[in-house]
Amino acid sequence: MTHTAPAPSPAELAAAVPGLAEYLRPATLLNPYAAQPVPGASGIGGPALWPVGAPWPHCTARHPEDEYLIPRSAPVTPAVGTALVPVLLIRAEDAPHLPWPDGTDLLQVLWCPNDHDDIQGERYYYGPAVRLHWQRAAELAPATPPPPARSAAEYLPQPCALRPEQLLDLPDRDDLPGELARAVAEFAERRGIEYERDHGRADGWKLGGWPSWHCTDLVPIDCARCGARMTHLLTAESGDDPDLSLGRHGELHVFVCPVDPAHPVGLDIQG
Ligand SMILES: [Zn+2]
Ligand SMILES: [Zn+2]
Repeated sequence: MTHTAPAPSPAELAAAVPGLAEYLRPATLLNPYAAQPVPGASGIGGPALWPVGAPWPHCTARHPEDEYLIPRSAPVTPAVGTALVPVLLIRAEDAPHLPWPDGTDLLQVLWCPNDHDDIQGERYYYGPAVRLHWQRAAELAPATPPPPARSAAEYLPQPCALRPEQLLDLPDRDDLPGELARAVAEFAERRGIEYERDHGRADGWKLGGWPSWHCTDLVPIDCARCGARMTHLLTAESGDDPDLSLGRHGELHVFVCPVDPAHPVGLDIQG
């Protein structure tokens, strides 16, 4: 190897390959580390904020594990359900590029910490049921969510504080039109770099930017409500901080509808 030049940044790559610049997307790498988040600050695994007097959300889905306890033919649905757990709290200033609905400045990502195999619009998904709550910090107070009635330990995040880092992200070639993907591959070959590994699509807990398709080919994620092609909102990764295991120790992608962020999220697990 005689090539010693550093790998180009996503912005340099986008400037070098015509047509690539329009695929640059802002992203926030979260860089979680084990620590109690400051109440009200961005963090993983709580503490939660919630409107005073409003009920904490529950999942009333039938979980695959319930099959062992209640036959599917039984006309029984859990009356109360399983309390969702706080996964991620983000203040708008830490991820200003997200599609914040008017008047909101805080996003809480909650999930039901159990497997689900029949989420509407998710044909191949098996994992936690995710919900987004776009909120206004001034209307929230510290809350102590009830513990979930049932949970899988690998879906219970340990508390982490964050070191948010703003960057620009480029997609895997799977997300590019064929001609542009070929131009990127030729450029990478001339420069002696591996696009998918070197170009700077950031790995790890991330808001915005682009998802990795390292396990499957691209899976188009369309909104179950309106059919729009959805946008990557969050990558949650397996690993020590915050001690989750998603899929086969892979990563979970949450997608949001570009028409209305209140539409149900899209979900995908890679490995
Ligand atoms: Zn559930
Ligand atoms: Zn939609």
